[in-house]
Amino acid sequence: MNDALGRTINYLRLSVTDRCNLRCRYCMPSEGIAKIDCGEILRLEDFYRVVEAATALGISKVRITGGEPLVRKGVIDLIEKISQLDAINEVTLTSNGLLLEASAQQLKAAGVQKVNISLDSLLPQVYREITRGGDLQKVLRGIEAAEAVGLKIKLNMVVMRGINDLEVLSFAALSQQKKWAIRFIEYMPTIKEPNWQQKMVPSKELLTQLENKFSLQALENNHTSGPAKMYQIAGAPGTVGVISPMSEHFCHRCNRIRVTSRGFAKSCLFNRDEVDLRPGLRSSDSTVLVETLREVIHNKPEKQQPIDNPDAKAFNMASIGG
Ligand code: SAM
Ligand code: SF4
Repeated sequence: MNDALGRTINYLRLSVTDRCNLRCRYCMPSEGIAKIDCGEILRLEDFYRVVEAATALGISKVRITGGEPLVRKGVIDLIEKISQLDAINEVTLTSNGLLLEASAQQLKAAGVQKVNISLDSLLPQVYREITRGGDLQKVLRGIEAAEAVGLKIKLNMVVMRGINDLEVLSFAALSQQKKWAIRFIEYMPTIKEPNWQQKMVPSKELLTQLENKFSLQALENNHTSGPAKMYQIAGAPGTVGVISPMSEHFCHRCNRIRVTSRGFAKSCLFNRDEVDLRPGLRSSDSTVLVETLREVIHNKPEKQQPIDNPDAKAFNMASIGG
């Protein structure tokens, strides 16, 4: 359906857990996030009911995210059930890739077509530092397994000055060898790190760096590129792209809503407003859930609230799903 401003909303992101097997420095404090009681996390059958209700409003694409979605038991069964819904034509996953080696085959069989893998460094030590202990080789094996079963691959790199920015060209060069989409994401101050301004590399600066090294051709934005601006290095099988949540808002072409791990719907990542879906889930009248989601979509804000505002509170990307 269209929201009040005429944007077509057809994409739903589910954060199926706020738990994670990593503690990335830009996403979580070292002690992790406050553990939510298991009972507060939405049951998988409730996530399914949310998707079913959302299809009545024109949702046709679902992304499963987290926390780390692959740590949630039963997630592959959920994916399979969602893929079997007639109205759903795409189910995708965002993962840190650590558990992908073991699950790639099952994910493909369950109906996943594409995986977005978060990978912020190709250097084992830097990767370990950023993720507070992650094993790069394990992620690389996961990517290999995903590729081997025919999953389309997007790599998401959060670029941070002084930490991994010197690796941008190496990441871009991967698109010359592989048919992968490599996407550079601006670092967002979601955890209110005091020196975040120094770390954030604006996409414009990144593009200049890329253009100085490669011959880049801008690609038409299409429905699969989402908020990314996409380019291709001459002769490369893959693509490179930039996602600029800080320097260039993409609200006018936003097509998504989110459901948090606790079952709250959010029509904007950066907006504080959340709508509790649990009363609708408890109701024996299935129209209550559909009507709640309709309201959420209708009221989607025109623009994101600035997160660089000093008064903005820290927020928990793992429970919202990024
Ligand atoms: N655990 C999975 C993963 O890392 O891919 C899925 C959840 S994670 C919250 C989703 C996305 O949010 C990841 O691509 C991650 O890089 C991104 N993210 C988290 N914190 C961020 C931040 N402060 N700035 C930019 N991107 C961030
Ligand atoms: Fe976990 Fe993903 Fe957050 Fe890293 S970005 S801590 S992998 S939820």
